[in-house]
Amino acid sequence: MLPDWPCVFRTSLSYNGAAGSALKGMRSVGTRSRDEALRNESNEPAIGFVNKVLSQSFVDGPGNRAVVFLQGCNFNCLYCHNPYMINLCNHCSQCVSHCPEGALIFKDGLVAWNPEACIECDACIQACPHNSSPQVRRTNPHDLWLEIEPFAPFLSGVTVSGGEAMQQAQFVRDFFTEVKAQSNLNTLIQTNGDVPREDLEELLPVTDWFMVDLKAFDPAAHRELTGSENERVMDTIRFLARHKKLFQVRQVVVPGFNDSEAEAKQTAGFLMTIDPAIDLLFLRFRSHGTRGIAEAWETPGNEVMASMVAAAEEAGLDQVHRSI
Ligand code: SF4
Ligand code: SF4
Repeated sequence: MLPDWPCVFRTSLSYNGAAGSALKGMRSVGTRSRDEALRNESNEPAIGFVNKVLSQSFVDGPGNRAVVFLQGCNFNCLYCHNPYMINLCNHCSQCVSHCPEGALIFKDGLVAWNPEACIECDACIQACPHNSSPQVRRTNPHDLWLEIEPFAPFLSGVTVSGGEAMQQAQFVRDFFTEVKAQSNLNTLIQTNGDVPREDLEELLPVTDWFMVDLKAFDPAAHRELTGSENERVMDTIRFLARHKKLFQVRQVVVPGFNDSEAEAKQTAGFLMTIDPAIDLLFLRFRSHGTRGIAEAWETPGNEVMASMVAAAEEAGLDQVHRSI
């Protein structure tokens, strides 16, 4: 038997074998089927895979917010800033020997993490060849709320991010239902927008806002940056704006991919066709946290960022911002 540590992956749904890429494994398990499979037969709330919880953030929506980072993503962005959140663990056990504190064990084909022994050195994350982490917890919506509740008097709301939060849409719906039942906090989902329409519809009643990361307007640039198409992202932006749930569209400005005035004009032109009041934020790419080729990419300068804002404003958008 494994020790009674709380962070043992016990589902076989997390990965389809070490032979293929971990991302391929994730994609082969659809969001809906995964969430449904995580429900038990008595139809209890979905179980979520939580990477970490921040009790305070001022950059993930309006005001001071708790942020829940969910494990797993359907994109494979070249510049991902949380690459260890892309895949679920496949229990290959390669990280176990890298832990200096004995906080990881491998038994009966499963890796277990002991948070009480962990010193958060992240050696396991660095050692993982599958863009995953052994520190992910399975939890239910009520227990997750209990983690946030002590901070609630100091918060404006709760944001769910990732990874791609909408990969666990049923869990997010059940969690936000709990947040709404227990508090007056508002709720926000940060998403890449490549989301099934029916999942969005299910989330609308319990979600106050969405922030959509439009990685690139140009389809080829989007494909190259993420490995995926952007048509459904556009549809998501239209849908959320129509339902008055779109808090902001964000775009990380990446040198050589989407840092041209033409890209900014096209992005703004697209948003103008929906609503000139849509809030657009250009974020400066930074290499911190990235892996692979993105580690060598440069941060766009003030001139580039200012030209992006100017081009979007010229296209007619009322609310265009950039990060410092
Ligand atoms: S973060 Fe460090 S101490 Fe914690 S489990 Fe990973 S390797 Fe071990
Ligand atoms: S977290 Fe550890 S056990 Fe899981 S896939 Fe990565 S190296 Fe393998």
